[in-house]
Amino acid sequence: MEILRTREELTKLAGLRDDQKLVLVPTMGALHEGHLSLVRLAESYGQVVVSIFVNPTQFGPDEDLETYPRDLSSDLALLAPLGVTAVFAPDVVTMYGGDGEVTVTPGDRALGLCGSTRPHHFGGVLTVLAKLFGLIQPDLAIFGRKDAQQCLVIDQMVQDLCMPIKLIDAPTVREPDGLAMSSRNRYLQGEHRQRALCLQSALQSAQRLIGEGQRETAELEQVMREELAVADRLDYAAIHRVPDLSRVDRISGRTLLAVAAQVGPTRLIDNMVLEVAEDGVTEAGLLASSLFA
Ligand code: AMP
Repeated sequence: MEILRTREELTKLAGLRDDQKLVLVPTMGALHEGHLSLVRLAESYGQVVVSIFVNPTQFGPDEDLETYPRDLSSDLALLAPLGVTAVFAPDVVTMYGGDGEVTVTPGDRALGLCGSTRPHHFGGVLTVLAKLFGLIQPDLAIFGRKDAQQCLVIDQMVQDLCMPIKLIDAPTVREPDGLAMSSRNRYLQGEHRQRALCLQSALQSAQRLIGEGQRETAELEQVMREELAVADRLDYAAIHRVPDLSRVDRISGRTLLAVAAQVGPTRLIDNMVLEVAEDGVTEAGLLASSLFA
């Protein structure tokens, strides 16, 4: 596993290539089993490059850029036993060295949900990904379905800017009690950790009602909000169509149930993607090329 830190070192990648597809797994490090599941999935498609970069442009001024967990040596130790060809771990100057930076403006899928409370977030995500895609030139890139809106916003960029990359969304990996794994979970202790389970239970309550035949968006969102009342701040409990993230009064077809809330020191997100038919409901993926859950 080669560790590449600079643009010059990245030129070595050409010499490491074989005839397989090149698969990029972008991360901000502080790796956990969720990230590793993406890497394992990536290995099944070809040669894997993992990027590790805490991207400053996707953090708001009051967010946790300074304290975001960074531990490159433990990340490399976790990746070493997997079949990773290279890790690209640049510094900020390597990624943002230019004058008068060009940036990417997200499409309308970025407007609601996390885009409402984090207005600059997706612009930062897309800008750094456009750079990573240009630098690494992967054939495929793998993202976690846990960041559902992010997957759909990236999908819109790749389509609209005609980027020749196939995107795959991978299922969310959870702790045994159902909490979606996140690098920020390490901030959760004691009763905060316990209360964090309200996100998962909100989604499960809505799923149960949908299974019993409820299709009214307002009723389902209300049930999720009630479950999230134990959080310290509710950001949203919302239901949107996939992939355009439009709103409908009655759900049908591919549907995203999404929740975000502050619990103690940590803002948490979670979601569930369902295929809702008249005669039944199944868990589903987000992107056309996604693997089903
Ligand atoms: P991050 O390091 O938080 O930027 O995440 C890097 C990638 O890992 C993103 O595509 C995330 O959606 C994905 N990811 C984060 N948590 C999970 C999880 N619990 N299960 C699956 N993928 C995840």
